Amino acid sequence: MFTIKGKTGDWEVVVGLETHIEVLSKSKIFSGASADYNPTVTPNTQVSFVDAAMPGMLPVLNEYCVDQAIKFGLAINAEIAHKSRFARKQYFYPDLPQGYQITQATSEPAVVNHGWIEIMDDDGNPKKILIERAHLEQDAAKNKHDMHPTKSFVDLNRSGVMLLEIVTALDIKNPENNSYITSPDEAERYLRQIREIARALGVSKANMEEGSMRADVNVSVRPVGEKTFRTRTETKNMISFKFIKNHIENEARRQIEIYENGGTVSQDTLRYHQDDGTSSVMRSKEDALDYRYFPDPDLLPLIITDEQIERIRKTMPELPTATRARYIEKFGLSEYDAARLTETVDISHWFDLAVGDKTERAKGIANWMISELFAHPENYDITNEKSGVVDGMRIITPTDLAELVDMVSASEINGKQAKDIFIKMLDGETGTPRAIADKFGMKQITDTGAIEKIIDEVIANNPSQVEQYKSGKVGLLGFFVGNVMKASGGKANPGVVNEILKKKLG
Ligand code: MN
Repeated sequence: MFTIKGKTGDWEVVVGLETHIEVLSKSKIFSGASADYNPTVTPNTQVSFVDAAMPGMLPVLNEYCVDQAIKFGLAINAEIAHKSRFARKQYFYPDLPQGYQITQATSEPAVVNHGWIEIMDDDGNPKKILIERAHLEQDAAKNKHDMHPTKSFVDLNRSGVMLLEIVTALDIKNPENNSYITSPDEAERYLRQIREIARALGVSKANMEEGSMRADVNVSVRPVGEKTFRTRTETKNMISFKFIKNHIENEARRQIEIYENGGTVSQDTLRYHQDDGTSSVMRSKEDALDYRYFPDPDLLPLIITDEQIERIRKTMPELPTATRARYIEKFGLSEYDAARLTETVDISHWFDLAVGDKTERAKGIANWMISELFAHPENYDITNEKSGVVDGMRIITPTDLAELVDMVSASEINGKQAKDIFIKMLDGETGTPRAIADKFGMKQITDTGAIEKIIDEVIANNPSQVEQYKSGKVGLLGFFVGNVMKASGGKANPGVVNEILKKKLG
């Protein structure tokens, strides 16, 4: 368990995350305008009257967006509400033309409730993180302050794009239920897991750098063994794993110091300063905003039928946790290898393509990917869109790697030759591994007669080593194997070499 040592003892850290992911849909959640607001799009060109909040315009719910929320809810083992409502969360800001955000009130059930995902805790054990809810809401527009020395601009293209806000739960009634995030690393693993689920489902790109995933981070501390939760602070809109981890640790230390000096932590909203990792109070509880939520009279309650849920359940792809289990059970991979190969959906897809329907290939492919290919990201295209030579780099495809592994298992080439072929590919050699092997005359010698001849020579040339081996220094076998392999130009089948050597040396 992650704890922080204070003057008075060890402290536990309690983290709550409210994660916003931007949902991929053709049009916005309540209007027909395009939801693809990428930076190359001219500002204010994808704005309907609804998004600009023209008087009298009525929002119309996009069913596709609701489906995405249901999909995500099923993936996090949650309950889908058969009835939930939209509410107006009211505040003023120039990027919010309506003067309120259409969201789902925190005091009512959201479309998705009571879910959980599994992450690895800091001791390497699986841990359930409870999720209280995931609700639908609108994104705001974007203020632009860097276009003119004295003026600010607003780009409404993002106004009304759908967000899904995913909120972790603290089991308040059951504080010993350790099913919440308790360290900076767990926070990162949780967010990465959310990202992978969203990507596997095609619900969101969930890319922090691009802003399609951002998190509000709540932090509190308590002495190890204390049963109740203490006051938390909240830091909004954090957009990097690094900053989030750094902030959790710094904020926990700040709170511990306050308590140990006899003070109390106040429930503040903080602003994080990324240059030095400190934070300052943006607003305190006394002037906390009162959003005056009320049901949006322009929208009917959101009714979801069992048929709709079942229709979506049928379209669910395999999720990363299930993929990992499949790799371990079906392919016999280690936990570590399975975890590396499911870090992203693209990686596991690449791996699955290379394995194809040949289960026996899986371990070989896994080894090559983890120990060689991952070290050369420029030489393979994880999305499988590229092949051939791109920017002077030879792209190694799943088919290439499958062929290489097959050649080794069929004893056409040995491991050393496979490595040489791989290096030749990295160096830009085109053609399939088999074509490269042919071109450079890399064929394994499996003919026992030929190997025996080489072995006899090596034995004859090293009488003192033979003597030592026979007197019990069996570790010298490696010396003989090495010399035979060398004499064969690296072409001998190491298995055959081993076998004959052992026989001849007695
Ligand atoms: Mn929100």
